[in-house]
Order: sequence, then structure tokens, then C-alpha cells
Amino acid sequence: MSTTENNVNPVQHRKVHLIGSGIASLASAAYFIRDGGINPSNITIYEEMDKAGGSLDGAGSAKDGYIMRGGRMLNFSYVCTYDLFSFIPSLGDPGIMVLDEIKAFNKNIKTHSQARLVEDGQILDVSSMGFSIRDRLDLVEMMAASESHFGAKRINEWFEPNFFKTNFWFMWDTMFAFQPWHSALEFKRYIHRFIHEFKRIDTLAGVDRTPYNQFDSMARPLIEWLKEQGVQFELGTRVTDLYFSLTGEKKTVQSIQLIKDGKSKSVKVRLNDLVLVTIGSMTADSSLGLMDSAPRLITDKRDGSWKLWEAIAKNSDQFGHPSVFDSRVDESKWESFTVTCQGTEFFDLMEEFSGNKAGTGGLVTLKDSNWLMSIVLAYQPHFIGQPDNVTVFWGYGLFQDKEGNFVKKKMADCTGAEILTELFSHLKFDEVSDKLLKTSNCIPCMLPYITSQFLTRSPGDRPQVVPEISGNLAFIGQFAEVPDDVVFTVEYSVRTAQTAVYGLLELDKQPTLIYKGDHHVDVLFNAMKTMFR
Ligand SMILES: Cc1cc2nc3c(=O)[nH]c(=O)nc-3n(C[C@H](O)[C@H](O)[C@H](O)COP(=O)(O)OP(=O)(O)OC[C@H]3O[C@@H](n4cnc5c(N)ncnc54)[C@H](O)[C@@H]3O)c2cc1C
Repeated sequence: MSTTENNVNPVQHRKVHLIGSGIASLASAAYFIRDGGINPSNITIYEEMDKAGGSLDGAGSAKDGYIMRGGRMLNFSYVCTYDLFSFIPSLGDPGIMVLDEIKAFNKNIKTHSQARLVEDGQILDVSSMGFSIRDRLDLVEMMAASESHFGAKRINEWFEPNFFKTNFWFMWDTMFAFQPWHSALEFKRYIHRFIHEFKRIDTLAGVDRTPYNQFDSMARPLIEWLKEQGVQFELGTRVTDLYFSLTGEKKTVQSIQLIKDGKSKSVKVRLNDLVLVTIGSMTADSSLGLMDSAPRLITDKRDGSWKLWEAIAKNSDQFGHPSVFDSRVDESKWESFTVTCQGTEFFDLMEEFSGNKAGTGGLVTLKDSNWLMSIVLAYQPHFIGQPDNVTVFWGYGLFQDKEGNFVKKKMADCTGAEILTELFSHLKFDEVSDKLLKTSNCIPCMLPYITSQFLTRSPGDRPQVVPEISGNLAFIGQFAEVPDDVVFTVEYSVRTAQTAVYGLLELDKQPTLIYKGDHHVDVLFNAMKTMFR
């Protein structure tokens, strides 16, 4: 009997099934090829959408309007992400790598915000963090406390009400999208993980950007490279369940149940084949509006990610507790919007107002906005192929259930035109508001699960990347547990990819070490100084 018939398929015959095509899966495929010696044509990526890339999306046209559900800030401490893109060739110049491109871009276009917080149409001086002695003590105590101390505590159970009025809170929570009711533990991890950014939190000078939106600059070159290697993409394919067998004490995936073109199918998984699932998704069930219509809030889990995790979780307590993250939409939702402008008028006005050329300012947060709106004017063009006379910006509001200050409607009920009216009124661009409205196309995007990864949780709610009981299965993405690292980042998903590949293949290789700023005296000293500013 051959080894393959015996189900002990050697490395070159081993198959890898990746469910989901976000950065977690794409990175896993890349590491299986680079470090695992897996034959690329034995790697299949299943994706229910008709396009790969997951949350790292960017699409549309100058005519119909561009759309990206999210916009990403990167950081030098994204060591896994930067490792990944150090071997993925750039689309524009295959002679260099994507990482070279990102580094060259950030050397040229430096972020130094001069209008981080705006109130009543005026730029605020945010050089002081605004902390009371109590706030400082609470922060230090949070850093010193061990993770086991936190349980399912919320941020507003740790800090006094004054903390949520400080400049620090407004800058930190809009940079990372925290809400007071989110997990204090997740907040603690962010404080440790980005403590090196404290000293420049008011200027965002530590933020790295990509030359274009992250679909064009990150997802696209990675997808192209994987396709060139021979990786198979099964788009429009929803995975509905995994069937397990018990092999000794291990649960081993035997088959993958999926639906393609309306037909159910079962894919056999052999003993040594591997299955990696991106569980949950922050962009599941997102919906788009238009200039004249509001997006819908979808809560029936019609996309596959949550239902698949719920189905898998029934097989073992070690496979996590999805209901902790997918059943509190009121605590996890918010709304983003992408605006396509014909001409540069809004950009010119913003440059004059903020003192920042597009691409150098980062987030501008309207502190007194009931919706807590922020916008980002990226370097232009932001999309490959974007015409010269077209400009694109992105924004979001954290409190979509509140009435606007000017438009007396909840953000969630607003059309793209109404969101823009509210924005222009805050900025006191009233005189040109009508003209700007006529030349702008704002596409709102409702995101029911956008901060589901920040919801309060307890140990075991997130499964280990490779659970002890697993024979051939790993969990990747935002809802698998990675010690010390922070969710809501590309970095976290790439780290789960490295952890899964090295763990499942039992390679003598560890994921790239996390950069720990709090292990450096100078970083701690600067952070402390910032806390007293
Ligand atoms: C608004 C916004 C702002 C952000 N800002 C930042 C930032 O500033 N910095 C930063 O680092 N990160 C940021 N992020 C986060 C970052 O984009 C995500 O963490 C990352 O892209 C998640 O990748 P993933 O592969 O883990 O999951 P996803 O990208 O969510 O991918 C999951 C994929 O799996 C597919 N899928 C799921 N279940 C199934 C199934 N059953 N069958 C078939 N397919 C399935 C889904 O359709 C999806 O394509 C932001 C994200 C958003 C949306």
C-alpha cells in the first residue's frame, strides 16, 4: 500500500484547506509555501464572496464611487506583517517587495497631524493628555495588573468618568475604535502594545501608511503572488460545517461541507491534510447605502463566518464561544463612509483648515460630534487607476444611534448626503456645502460586528490557534487567542497565520517576536512624561 493510500501523505502530497480569504488565510498560504514546503497547488482557499481579500477591501470607480469598508494604520511594530510583505513582490515594480514600497512611501510622506481633534470648527491644542492624578494612577495600575485579574471587566469599570473626557481618550479611542463598554483587558493589551506611540499620540507621527488603499497595496499583490505560485481560489464558496472524527484523543477534520452555486458538496480531508479556518469576521453582514439611501443593519448572520464558527464550536469547548462576540451587535456596530469627490475643492479646504496636505494628517476627529465622527484624507490617488481630478476620503462615526448635531437623525438612518451635510456643518464649510454636495458621492457602510473582537470576554472564549484537542485544525484571524498581541489589527491576523503554520507543521520555528516597547526604559520614560503633559 502506498503512503498516500495509507493516509500518511508526505509533505508534497499534503493538502491545505484555508477557509476565508482575508489576510489571515492569504498569509497562511504564503507561509505554507515559504516555510512549510507545501506544494502551492495543494493549497485551496475557500471564500464565500466573489473576491478575495476579506476585510482588506477596496473597490468601485470614479463614476460610481469608490468604497473601502476600512482604512488601516500600520506601525513599525507590525513585525509579522512586515515579514510577510518582505517576500511579496510589489505590483508596480516586481523588482522590489511590497515592504520596500511601504517603507519608501512613508519616508516620503510623513504623518504629522496638526488637527487631531476639532471642536466647534476650531483645532484643539492636544499637547496635554488632560489626565487627573487618579487617571494616571488607574493607567499605571492597569499596566501592572495581570491579565487574570480582569475577567470580563469593561473599560468604564476601570477608569473614572473624567478619563473619558480627556484628550488622551478621544485620541486613543478614535485611533483604535474603543468604546467605554469594551473589554478592559483588550484596552490593557493596547496600552502595552502601543506604549511607544504615547509620546506622539497627538501627531500620529508613528503611523505607517500604504501607498494606496490596503486592497491595492497589500491584498492584491499577495493574491497575485499566491496565484502565480499555483494556489487555488474557490470564490463564491460558503463553508457551512466541518465533520470530525476522533483519532486517539484528537478531533480530526474528516470533511468540509460547503455550498457552491447553490449546490451542497463535501470535500474529503485525509488524515494528514490540514484545515485552517478564519473564525468570525468584523465585516460580516456589512451593507452599503448610497447618496440618497441609508445602509441597512443586518443582524440575521446571513454571511457564513459566524454560523460556521457556531457549528464548529459544538464539537468541543476548546473551539471557543462565538456567541460572546456575535450576539451583542448594539455593542459592536458602527458605520464608516467613503467619499469620492469630483475635483479637489474639499481637499483644498481641508488643507487650508488643518495645515496638513492629504496623506500627512491622519485622523481628524470632530470631538463635539454626537456621532463622534472622524475622517482621514489619504495621499492621492488612493486607488490604482483613480483619475487625477478625483479625490477620495474615508471616515467613520462611533455613535450611529445618536442624532446628529445639525442633521436631526440618527447616523444609522442617514443617507450619504446627510452624513456629508453633518460633516460640512461641523467643519463650518456651510458656504460651499451645496457645491461640495453636488460634486461628492458618499457611500455609507454599516458594520454590525466591527468591534466584536473588543467585546468583554473570559478565558476560553477565544480558542487557541491550534487547540490541544485538534488533530489537523487551526483557527486563524481576529477571534483566535494570541498571547500579548492586539486584535483589530492586520498584524494579529498575520501572527495567527504564522502560529498556525509553524504549529501544525511542527516546524522548528517561532512566530516573529512581538515588539515590546514596555521592555525599553526610554519608551517607558517617554510614556510617563507624556502622561504628565
Ligand atoms: C473599518 C476598519 C478599520 C480598520 N483599521 C485598521 C487599522 O488601522 N490597522 C490595522 O492593522 N487593522 C485595521 N483593521 C483590521 C484589519 O483590516 C483586520 O484585522 C484584518 O483585515 C482581518 O483579516 P482576517 O483575515 O483575519 O479576517 P477577514 O478579513 O474578516 O476575512 C475573513 C474572510 O473569510 C470569509 N469567510 C468567513 N467565513 C466563511 C465561510 N464560512 N465560508 C467562506 N468564506 C468565509 C469572509 O467572507 C472573509 O472574506 C480595520 C478593519 C476595518 C474593517
